[in-house]
Amino acid sequence: MNNLAEIIAACKDLAFDLDFKRAKQWKEEKANRVVVGYLPIYFPREVIHAVGGLPVAIFGGGDRKQIIKGDAYYQSYICHIPRSVIELVLDKHTAHFDGYIFPSICDVIRNLSGIFKQQNIGKFVKYMDFPQNFLPQVGGVFLQQEMQHVVDYITEISGEKLTTEKLNHSISLYNTNRRLIEFIYDIREKYPWRLSIEDVYHIIRAGTVIPVEEHNEILEKVCAFIDQEIGKPQDKIKVVISGAFCEQPAIGLIRAIEEAGCYVVDDDYQLGSRMIIGDIDDKTDNPLEALSNAYIKQSQYSSSIYDISNPKEYRLAKIVEKRKADGVIFASASFCDPSLLDAPIFQNAFDRMGIRYIAFQYSENINQFKVIKEQVGAFSDSIKLWEDEPMTVND
Ligand code: SF4
Repeated sequence: MNNLAEIIAACKDLAFDLDFKRAKQWKEEKANRVVVGYLPIYFPREVIHAVGGLPVAIFGGGDRKQIIKGDAYYQSYICHIPRSVIELVLDKHTAHFDGYIFPSICDVIRNLSGIFKQQNIGKFVKYMDFPQNFLPQVGGVFLQQEMQHVVDYITEISGEKLTTEKLNHSISLYNTNRRLIEFIYDIREKYPWRLSIEDVYHIIRAGTVIPVEEHNEILEKVCAFIDQEIGKPQDKIKVVISGAFCEQPAIGLIRAIEEAGCYVVDDDYQLGSRMIIGDIDDKTDNPLEALSNAYIKQSQYSSSIYDISNPKEYRLAKIVEKRKADGVIFASASFCDPSLLDAPIFQNAFDRMGIRYIAFQYSENINQFKVIKEQVGAFSDSIKLWEDEPMTVND
């Protein structure tokens, strides 16, 4: 892969490979390797890596998998991702996965973990509770116990024990990964024409299905390319996308938002890869504690986190201010309770703060978004025509 177009094409293939072939190949290269699938939003992948595992994100089938069996498991009035995950699993797309982790986010994900257990899918199924108590000595200790459970499951299969050195090394690799991804977003904040949000999406999503070492190499190359002036600026407003952290919009919708006149300068499409802000201590005697401290003190705002002392509406407003965005697009998966219940909180606060926004809903398998494109285009035009003073956010 010697040029940017080749890198992006390779990432696109990886990102939407519903057979997870790179993970299969990786597993076959060496005995006792363990592939662990995890659902959105976030799991500290470092702990899987440190005991010889490959963490692989499962974002569902998107618009590339017809749902037949999945619909039999769920009522009509819930989101789409659990149906396509069931379909993928029952059709053996993940037959080489050893275990599955379901991070707590909503009842749908919890019930999906129950179906996996009931159907004996995988060698282990872990419903992963995350603390809502943000005291390190309470919620932090609880999170360490939860991570230890996952380590124990993997060790039982791989025989590989967790050591301080191994976990510090894994943390350091993921620190590099997070830094490089942030570099891409920082470049796009100033020069969003250098790499489209669609390309960014493919590049980051590829990293959720391959070893972090390989993804870091890819990111290094991408960063070198976009550190130079490429592409041409267009007359578009800048927006932040919020609410699309679990079920993913179809790639056509991600593209349509930019085509309709909005540079996306920040988003929560694949929040898990960017959940921790900044580096995690990788030279510590207690790396599990370092990971739990990072979640408690350095995690991004999220619908899965209820931190009363750090209201999410102000955190999102700060991102808008930092990225010098003109507005926010609230994009929620249909029937996504966490996203849709948060939306009025954000919108009431943004009405007071004078931050402009629009909102719409999508489904991963729907590829018709003419109405959304018109709505986004009208939003962009209205901001360009009636632009006023840049907003400021007070804590
Ligand atoms: S899309 Fe929303 S409701 Fe559906 S599983 Fe994800 S978080 Fe839960």
